[in-house]
Amino acid sequence: MECPECKSTHIKKNGRKKGKQNHICVKCGRQFIDCYQSHQGYAQAVKHECLKMYVNGMGFRSIERVKGVHHTTIMKWVKQVGELLPDFYDAENFSRSRRIR
Ligand SMILES: [Zn+2]
Repeated sequence: MECPECKSTHIKKNGRKKGKQNHICVKCGRQFIDCYQSHQGYAQAVKHECLKMYVNGMGFRSIERVKGVHHTTIMKWVKQVGELLPDFYDAENFSRSRRIR
C-alpha cells in the first residue's frame, strides 16, 4: 500500500471509517481508506480484466484495442503484479509469470 498523495509506503493505521480501515501517511499526513482509487487511474476491475487477458495469452496491443487501456499502462500493471503477487498469477500461468520476474 502506498500514499495516494506522495507515494510513500510509510503508512499507519488510523482507526475505521464506515467499516473500512482508515490509514494515515506518516510522511505527508494524508488520510485514506483501503479501497482508495485515484481518479486519474483505472478502476481495479479494469486492471484485473487486463491482467487476466494478459495471463491468458493476449498481447499488450490486443488488450489495448479491446479495453482501451494504453499498452504501457498494462505493462506497468504486469510489472507491479509480477513483483507483488507472483503466487496468485502463477496459479493461472506459471511460465508467463516467471518471465515477468
Ligand atoms: Zn503521503
